[in-house]
Amino acid sequence: MTTLIDNSPVQIANTKPTLVGLTLDELKVKMGEIGVPEKMHKMRATQLFRWIYHYGITDFEAITDINKELRQKLAQNFTLERAEVLERLISKDGTRKWLIRTAPGIEIEIVYIPDVARSGALCVSSQVGCTLNCSFCHTGTQVLVRNLTAQEIIMQLMIARDDLGEWPTPFEDRQITNIVFMGMGEPLYNLDNVASAIEVISNGEGIAIGRRRITVSTSGIVPEMDRLGQLGVMLAVSLHACNDELRDILVPINKKYNLEALFKAIRAYPDLSNSKRVTFEYVMLEGVNDSPKDAQDLLRLLKGIPAKVNLIPFNPWPGSIYKCSDRIHTKAFSEFIFNAGISAPIRRTRGQDILAACGQLRSESKKTKASILKKENI
Ligand code: SAH
Ligand code: SF4
Repeated sequence: MTTLIDNSPVQIANTKPTLVGLTLDELKVKMGEIGVPEKMHKMRATQLFRWIYHYGITDFEAITDINKELRQKLAQNFTLERAEVLERLISKDGTRKWLIRTAPGIEIEIVYIPDVARSGALCVSSQVGCTLNCSFCHTGTQVLVRNLTAQEIIMQLMIARDDLGEWPTPFEDRQITNIVFMGMGEPLYNLDNVASAIEVISNGEGIAIGRRRITVSTSGIVPEMDRLGQLGVMLAVSLHACNDELRDILVPINKKYNLEALFKAIRAYPDLSNSKRVTFEYVMLEGVNDSPKDAQDLLRLLKGIPAKVNLIPFNPWPGSIYKCSDRIHTKAFSEFIFNAGISAPIRRTRGQDILAACGQLRSESKKTKASILKKENI
């Protein structure tokens, strides 16, 4: 069930809408709205696109190839503002987290995870809350507030780049090299907007993060996986269990799209190869999915698929019913998979001191599910 809070475009503090986060087509429409002659729509929109997403400008006066009259007209009607940043946190390990508000009641967390090898991933959200109910996930305790618009997805990246000082788009030595849709929400339930956002983010005239550096994580929405494949982005699957009985409990969408259907869709994902592997996320839950038998089952499932496995230590949250597997079990699991020739690193828990780790994202625009309220006695 979707509760609509506010679906209006990002509009901050004043009455003028911002152009930041719009697609090229949307910018063309805006040109029409302020009386730019039709034959000039494309050219002006293309120029603006480059100024917004390559240079990251915040003031129309910075534009050098648009005449003063049009610059003034743009400023009279629009802004280049970002969404409001409510909180900025930096962890002692360098992880950063932002809490932003794009509309009344719509609060989104963004996480930047710097890596060892001069690269870093930005973890973005596609929904506020989630309709799915994975039993180990904090976001799953929230009902869906609503889908994020493409603009709100792009805005997450703009704000992170502002703070990291990453304008104009650098050709090398970037801090944000990769985008992962691993924040709140199920991206494949908002694929239209996710696809539009990817189109902007990957456009070489702007932010220029290539599709091979964008990973979309899904809990397994089988009917949408084909469409995702057409976008040319990398696929991550939240697997977490290797038999239907257990996966029905951990990732309940499995009751609708079971392992057989899921793996059929994964095998059909386009262009899989050693350089385009599927990432399988596997949360380590003590006594639940961390036995040697589970590792064997996992290998059997992955047979013949160019794959890598990400073992995620379970991050507990208030009211969670699971425990994280201990080091010994996790290491043994990882080594078993590695020995079969599949990379299976144990993901370092990052940014725990600022609650930025996987599954800990849960903004204040929360609408807690009734069942949880009951369990927590709230
Ligand atoms: N809804 C999508 C995108 C979210 S990705 C999906 O489920 O794939 C977030 C990842 O973190 C998923 O793999 C999810 O299963 C995992 N996760 C959720 N809660 C977690 C927790 N408490 N500890 C560790 N990982 C968790
Ligand atoms: Fe939703 Fe993903 Fe969390 Fe499952 S793991 S509840 S699909 S965000």
